Amino acid sequence: MAEMKTKGFLDYQSGAPVDPRVVEAMLPYMTEHYGNAATFHTAGDAPREAIDHARDQLATLIGAEPFEIYFTSGATEANNMALKGAAMRLRKKGKHIITSVIEHRSVITPSKFLEQEGFEVTRLPVDAEGFVDPAAVEEAIRDDTVLVSIMMVNGEIGTIEPVGGIAEIAKRHGVLFHTDAVAALGWIPIDVTTLQFDMVTLSSNDIYGPKGMGALFIRKGVRIESILHGGGQEKNMRSGTENVPGIVGFGKAAEILKAEMPADVERIRRYRDRLIDELMTGISDTALNGPRERRVPNNANIRFAYIEGEALLLSLDMDGIQLSSGSACSAKTLEPSYVQLAMGIKHEEAHGSLQFTMGRWTSEEDIDHVIEVLPGIVKKLREMSALRPGMEYDKSQFGKDDHHEESDE
Ligand code: PMP
Repeated sequence: MAEMKTKGFLDYQSGAPVDPRVVEAMLPYMTEHYGNAATFHTAGDAPREAIDHARDQLATLIGAEPFEIYFTSGATEANNMALKGAAMRLRKKGKHIITSVIEHRSVITPSKFLEQEGFEVTRLPVDAEGFVDPAAVEEAIRDDTVLVSIMMVNGEIGTIEPVGGIAEIAKRHGVLFHTDAVAALGWIPIDVTTLQFDMVTLSSNDIYGPKGMGALFIRKGVRIESILHGGGQEKNMRSGTENVPGIVGFGKAAEILKAEMPADVERIRRYRDRLIDELMTGISDTALNGPRERRVPNNANIRFAYIEGEALLLSLDMDGIQLSSGSACSAKTLEPSYVQLAMGIKHEEAHGSLQFTMGRWTSEEDIDHVIEVLPGIVKKLREMSALRPGMEYDKSQFGKDDHHEESDE
């Protein structure tokens, strides 16, 4: 493992450090090999070869052919490209799209845009653990359905969606299947030779590559429209001068991941299981958000009754521990997580959730530290809380993961 410290940082899902080996690989492409890959003169040779190499590295990681990988400016762009690109291409065939209520905003918002453009979108609900039901996907498919987009893993609650089966259902009905695999990459195997995915969104930072870098896998033979027009890079699918250092970094991160994933997964799963066990037995009135099994190994999401998550976050930060209360992307709004509300968790309970996400440089000491300080913080905050026991609060949901009521929303 390359030298790096992320002491007290348990919010990898919101942003991860770039592996020093990745930085080293990227640097020459900012200085020495500064040429534009599109030029005919020799300054373009090294960048061009580096892009080809990175495409191979990423393709190898997921079992794709290099020509099936399209580099983008991140997962947001890749999700936009998949949804809008497929919709534009297939609009004459049909205008119905199926997705879920717990997708990342970079899927939800393009799907709303498409509704304004005359498409109809079915957003499937999830159960109390955040699972989409494959049978519900099959039921929702109509003659005019052109695309199903369901995420592989929800990064906030860690649920691994049954996308293998959903993709098969879509294929059987002749409907394209896209999955946002951002939170899955690095934690569960992704092999497009066996999984019937037509399009897959990938992100570099989630595997310790640079931010602002992503890719869309588009299976050979699947045709979508480009949504970014210009100089014709990426076989006309994604115009714009290539971010050569970013692409090189993403490729290197993929190569390292392939070699180190089994050991990382094993170690992080051990930490994560200990964190869940100790916090849930050591602190009363806690409940796990998301499933215990069929959950990515780097995620723990626990809710603490009678507490505001923001107060917990501030207290933890003062103790040198940084994490999120819900989706990193909604942290600014102080709104409870729409993912948790969709699972039937009540508004005030969703507020008391902590999302722990771990990664390559998480250490055993990080876990020890949380286990040591969190019970005291929870106790102190509960003593001050207006939500404490006996007040207007339904305690029945705590300690039982299978008991959820309808969302207020
Ligand atoms: N999809 C998922 C599941 C995510 O968690 C994120 C954010 N990390 C994105 C898409 C968007 O990624 P980015 O902001 O890097 O484009």
